[in-house]
Amino acid sequence: MFEHLKGRMTPASNAGRSKGAIRLNQALTLFVVVFPLVATLYAAVPQWAGLASWKDLALLGSFYLATSIGVTVGFHRMLTHNSFETNPIVRAIFLILGTWSIQGAAISWAAIHNKHHVHSDTPEDPHSPIRSFFHAHVGWLLGTERAEPERFAKGQLNDPVVMFVSRTAFWWAVLGMVLPFLIGGWSGFLWGSLVRVFLVHHVTWSVNSICHTFGQRPFKHEGDPDLSTNNVAVGLLAMGEGWHNNHHAFPRSAMHGLKWWQFDMSGYTIRVLGRLGLARNIIRVPKQVIAMRRAKGARRQSAQAAA
Ligand SMILES: [Zn+2]
Ligand SMILES: [Zn+2]
Repeated sequence: MFEHLKGRMTPASNAGRSKGAIRLNQALTLFVVVFPLVATLYAAVPQWAGLASWKDLALLGSFYLATSIGVTVGFHRMLTHNSFETNPIVRAIFLILGTWSIQGAAISWAAIHNKHHVHSDTPEDPHSPIRSFFHAHVGWLLGTERAEPERFAKGQLNDPVVMFVSRTAFWWAVLGMVLPFLIGGWSGFLWGSLVRVFLVHHVTWSVNSICHTFGQRPFKHEGDPDLSTNNVAVGLLAMGEGWHNNHHAFPRSAMHGLKWWQFDMSGYTIRVLGRLGLARNIIRVPKQVIAMRRAKGARRQSAQAAA
């Protein structure tokens, strides 16, 4: 994880990396995963929770929102799936906000996520629950398997904005941790940095674990190993990313919520950007195409029920 933050672009192969370097990277990843958890437990101890001021909670809320949108709109829909285009400044801002999540550099994130789509729920999937729920949630981060950007994020490698933010990722991540401290002191750091990173980590990882295990699969069709699901709770917490079966069916769609009641904060953000003239070529899937795919999924489900 941290090696990406330091800007190494090709962490995919372990060739040329000493055992010591791999161990160090695993130890740093474990620290980044566990430390926010410990800090959150500390913050949740009642006498300390009582001391959280409105300023701390406002810092938590605003930094959670900014970081989540950076991941869902920036890293995921804009960078990995090209669901819309924007100008280089807005592109850089979204990528920087995504980097605040401490989930590695943008280019590495895109490569891992593309690999997940190409090999969904097969042995090559970097984070499928077919191995175990824990592996899908966080265990995969502690392993040494990666995705080569040269293979899984080829188009993005030529984008100077993406490469600049990826190479300088470590410093953007540090900035995201320091800003809440500058605004709110140590308690601002506890809530706006550590608790926020803890929440963003687990909500993002829930898309990989919960949304490939629990929920509905309206678009699943015969013979497809894909286990992605639609899950209302993750849909709400993860800014619309919980409509994950919709997303696997239509990966480039800017909207993951395909029905009016499927709350999709990231999709609404992209629509607003479009209205403001800051997003163009927003990918929308025609209603007939959605209906056709849904009918295909429904046929499978009724065949299964009859069997
Ligand atoms: Zn998925
Ligand atoms: Zn995706």
